[in-house]
Amino acid sequence: MKLVRYGERGQEKPGLIDADGRIRDLSAHVADIAGPVLEDLSVLAKIDPASLPLVEGNPRFGACVGQTGKFICIGLNYSDHAAESGMAVPPEPVIFAKYTSAICGPNDPILIPRGSEKTDWEVELAVVIGKPAKYVSEADAMDHVAGYCVCNDVSERAYQIERSGQWSKGKSSDNFGPIGPWLVTRDEVANPNDLNMWLKVNGETFQNGSTNTMVYQVPFLISYLSQFFTLHPGDVISTGTPPGVGLGQKPPRYLKAGDVVELGIEGLGTQRQICENDA
Ligand code: ZN
Repeated sequence: MKLVRYGERGQEKPGLIDADGRIRDLSAHVADIAGPVLEDLSVLAKIDPASLPLVEGNPRFGACVGQTGKFICIGLNYSDHAAESGMAVPPEPVIFAKYTSAICGPNDPILIPRGSEKTDWEVELAVVIGKPAKYVSEADAMDHVAGYCVCNDVSERAYQIERSGQWSKGKSSDNFGPIGPWLVTRDEVANPNDLNMWLKVNGETFQNGSTNTMVYQVPFLISYLSQFFTLHPGDVISTGTPPGVGLGQKPPRYLKAGDVVELGIEGLGTQRQICENDA
């Protein structure tokens, strides 16, 4: 299934994408694509999409999962991206928080924070947790996955790297976390570590990679994180970016108002964001 949340920000309704690519309204069955709903998606899988009301027009897509408690990012998880960033591949995964207030819809504008000169992009595979995960083994890790989506780990490099301390302040500005358009359920993705991914700015391709070059792959990451804290339904893990970010260009290339960012991952849909200056 391709699950979606659609409508005005903060008032999104649950839906799914039918075989013809149209949105069907799930709100008679579930309140949101969130929380316990994610623990047992077989309930939604049993519904005949044709029995659901068709949603007219082209509503905004919200983030494809609601009520996310933790938005965890993995840093430097592609060796060639680590190299372009001038950093070594770490002996264990680098993890950092993207605060959940950054979450937005896949096509909402990228807001360039006040004073920012180094706003950057990162196409990433995001994993959405289904069943709670605590001390899970790598062998059992995938049982805890609800599905996958595209994430743009929008980053402000000066705030992240030059302003001292942890990375979170360069990763968490409003609208720095577009996720979606769809939450693609686990059964539809044969191998999350074999998906092509790409990102363009103003039509020019900057990132063109595959999740098969991740250093620490999805089952390992879930198991690893679950040794430190419990992963809950709706938690999002963004798994790192391949090379081609603005920081790695010579000279570096950062986003400015009016730039158009487009990105996608094989089977998971695409995002499109127009950059604008935050108020
Ligand atoms: Zn990232």
